[in-house]
Amino acid sequence: MKNLSILFCASEVAPYAKTGGLADVTEALPAALSALGCDVRIFMPLYRCVRNWIKTPTVVSEAAPISVGIHDYHINYMETRTVSGLPLYLLEKDEFYDRSFLYGTPSSGDYDDNAERFITFCSAIRPLCLQLNWFPSIIHLHDWQTGLAAAYHHHYWRRDPNFAHSGTVFTIHNLAYQGVFPGKYFSLTNLPAEAFSLDGIEFWGNCNFLKAGLVYSDFLTTVSPRYSQEIQTSEYGCGLHGVLHERNDCLSGILNGIDQVVWNPVTDSFIPTNYSSSRLSGKRQCKEALLTELGFSREQVDLPLLGMIGRLATQKGFQLLNEILDELMNCPALLVILGSGDAEIGTMVHAMAARYPEQIKIRIEFNEPLAHRIEAGADIFLMPSSYEPCGLNQMYSLRYGAIPIVHATGGLDDSVVDVRKEPLQGTGFKFTIYEASAFIETIKSALELFQNKPKWIDLQRRAMAQDFSWERSAERYLDVYERVLKKKRMIGGQ
Ligand code: ADP
Repeated sequence: MKNLSILFCASEVAPYAKTGGLADVTEALPAALSALGCDVRIFMPLYRCVRNWIKTPTVVSEAAPISVGIHDYHINYMETRTVSGLPLYLLEKDEFYDRSFLYGTPSSGDYDDNAERFITFCSAIRPLCLQLNWFPSIIHLHDWQTGLAAAYHHHYWRRDPNFAHSGTVFTIHNLAYQGVFPGKYFSLTNLPAEAFSLDGIEFWGNCNFLKAGLVYSDFLTTVSPRYSQEIQTSEYGCGLHGVLHERNDCLSGILNGIDQVVWNPVTDSFIPTNYSSSRLSGKRQCKEALLTELGFSREQVDLPLLGMIGRLATQKGFQLLNEILDELMNCPALLVILGSGDAEIGTMVHAMAARYPEQIKIRIEFNEPLAHRIEAGADIFLMPSSYEPCGLNQMYSLRYGAIPIVHATGGLDDSVVDVRKEPLQGTGFKFTIYEASAFIETIKSALELFQNKPKWIDLQRRAMAQDFSWERSAERYLDVYERVLKKKRMIGGQ
């Protein structure tokens, strides 16, 4: 559908403000939609870190009045262009957004006024459109910070003829983060009293901003098809599975794409030797260089090198790795871990390396160039996440021929095909039951195949041929937008 106008509202957009995968989506997906002919614009808060990138944004309007509870604030709207040239609108309200971090500090946790900060952001969407005299057909909201906008659209904005035919789409990037605040904050939202109910944003006496997005949006998406199913179960639903199940006729999953220019072993400037599926000798050279860089010995080059990269968070499965460590080291195998985050998990990872100093090397830091070198140098990539809304690293691994071993959950399940089940189509290995025994058994199967070089190379070539372009995902989002607008037209025509 050409000329479709879409406003993306998000609390993170790469590279300006990023704490996770959300920012990558809100940067890449608008660009892909624009390439398909849509008029896409983006709205986000003007955080301090955004000013590092954009020194002099243009003023759209100054001192616009906005009500948040009993407070009357004045806000400024600024404008710049994204890396891909799309309009990026910024909400300037220094009292709320001019801070060192996006949501809270490492030492004190979340900011006390996060409810006000994101009520303000959501309330500012309609006035922005009025200022611009531009009314998008689709308002695409992302994660809990924007959930209230769906409630505002449902209760207020759609009564305005400018918004009457517009639809809202809400994307869940991670259901575990919900923006839950004490019930007393409800009065700040300026929503009608009926919205503080089981069918509204109320959640065990609290306000749940993510739930606002779930109940009031016209359509919901997750960042992988499998995750959209999982979150309807009590195991993965984080207390909201009932709400999600009720809306399952308007819920679907679309796998994220990856930046196939940045993550391409043929052109990657972070890796010592470029390679392709038809010239895999370069991957061997990357492995040799990585072993030297990490401090392994040259004699170890024929041993399988396993890599693991990610946030040091419970979700990522470092505990499961710890449980199988002795058996894995006995295989034998080499292991490199790159991660940053939780201090307790960091201590556990340090202890693993201390037990097997010759076979395990760790780097506790955030280091993107090293992440590229690990993908290029590793034979196998481990991703034993307990849950994974989408996951990017398994897709990078496939592109780099580092065969992924993953827990069959969320986007990991959707993007990896188990070669044991589908020998001619397989791209990696998956284990279903989330237990140490299943994990190590799967690693052992992979190590066995690793010894069969022709079969292993076939597997690598299939993995490297996978297409995870954003264009594919963008086409699926267009289908969703069309579906929403068709339904609006049908309701409007009744
Ligand atoms: P999540 O969004 O849950 O953190 P993803 O796999 O979706 O997990 O995306 C994480 C991204 O951050 C990937 O691009 C990954 O390579 C990168 N990453 C995570 N930790 C590190 C690290 N310590 N150093 C470099 N890159 C990292």
